[in-house]
Amino acid sequence: MEPTRAAGLARLAAFAPRMGRAYAATRNHDSGPGARANVSVLSPWVRHRLVLEAELAAAAAPFGGAAEKFVSEVFWRTYFKGFLERHPAIWAAYTTARAAPRPPGYEAAIAGRTGIACFDAWAHELVETGYLHNHARMWFASIWIFTLRLPWALGADFTFRHFADGDPASNTLSWRWVAGLHTRGKHYLARAANISEHTAGRFDPRGELDERAPPLVEDAVFRDEGVPASDARPEGPVRLVLHEDDCLPETLLPAAARLEEVLVLPPQPRGPRPTGTIAHAFAHGALADAAARAGAHFAAPVRQVETLADIDPAGAPLVTAWPTIGPLRDAFDQAHGAGLTVAWLRRPWDSRAWPHAGKGFFALRQAMPALLDAAPCAA
Ligand SMILES: Cc1cc2nc3c(=O)[nH]c(=O)nc-3n(C[C@H](O)[C@H](O)[C@H](O)COP(=O)(O)OP(=O)(O)OC[C@H]3O[C@@H](n4cnc5c(N)ncnc54)[C@H](O)[C@@H]3O)c2cc1C
Repeated sequence: MEPTRAAGLARLAAFAPRMGRAYAATRNHDSGPGARANVSVLSPWVRHRLVLEAELAAAAAPFGGAAEKFVSEVFWRTYFKGFLERHPAIWAAYTTARAAPRPPGYEAAIAGRTGIACFDAWAHELVETGYLHNHARMWFASIWIFTLRLPWALGADFTFRHFADGDPASNTLSWRWVAGLHTRGKHYLARAANISEHTAGRFDPRGELDERAPPLVEDAVFRDEGVPASDARPEGPVRLVLHEDDCLPETLLPAAARLEEVLVLPPQPRGPRPTGTIAHAFAHGALADAAARAGAHFAAPVRQVETLADIDPAGAPLVTAWPTIGPLRDAFDQAHGAGLTVAWLRRPWDSRAWPHAGKGFFALRQAMPALLDAAPCAA
């Protein structure tokens, strides 16, 4: 996985011919790490915005309705992001929950030593490749929660730290969805027959899974805070804080923008435990690629900072791409509390979609045609 925009665009071009019926018909099959032609494996690039959601949608456009499945999967990412922005207390509750002591069985689960062959294989695949197929992510989370009876937040912490596409919103909310906490009372139970059917016969965990467990329940009620307001871009020369959430600064700011400096913030730790090697390397590489492009595009000097506290508040106004809820937002909130003023610029793609992401996915799905009509490729 080469963490550059060029590599992401090459992967997008190579996968584009499959975005229509081929994707809809075969996407649920997980034939193993060496056999991923049925899905795009673009998520690490999209998560860091080396490639934009709008660019995926534009590549799918020639297929019209046949690409509806692919495009709606892309919108799931947008939906989860918007939903978490509107329900920030979910992230806070997750960070508290993942700090719980590790129960018996936890270490065996993350080491892939449970004795359930499929689960153990996915635990290894996750750590060794930084990627799991979507169906495997669902089965893995479900077995973690309902068969191994481990706390969902500890599983979410494990995958978040190891996915090269580790995304606070998609990861946290997908785990909650599997658990039956996102759509209350509606959980996802991994079934042996389904696993056997969709893994090219590689696994058959018959008799090993709890296929009758009830959904998890919780007392907490998370309020919809609405879509937060985006800042206006200051007039005149600015300094850009480049971060892991948006590695395409060339389209975040107008071509004529005058940049005094590009300040590169390293990837944030994803939790108290270390980030996986592959995930860490991908995020680092994505930032290095973005920094080189930004410096050349805006003819601006590039400087690495260790933390936001290293940035001098005096000087040209600071701007940054919207830091989405998660470790990055926590860092920006902390810096703001310490007196650093930074304008958060949101991409039109997010601003248009998030008003539809307050409840279930259905509302956003209904809005998809209008959103796609409104989206220029570089949004
Ligand atoms: C428990 C669990 C945890 C997950 N954690 C993450 C995570 O940390 N980061 C992450 O990016 N995705 C996460 N997902 C969503 C999804 O599994 C991945 O985005 C997808 O598998 C990436 O593979 P791909 O690029 O080959 O997807 P494709 O099938 O080729 O889909 C194209 C694009 O659509 C988006 N997409 C597809 N499916 C989903 C989905 N269900 N939710 C959100 N976006 C989707 C991705 O950007 C993806 O690149 C999680 C899902 C589950 C069930």
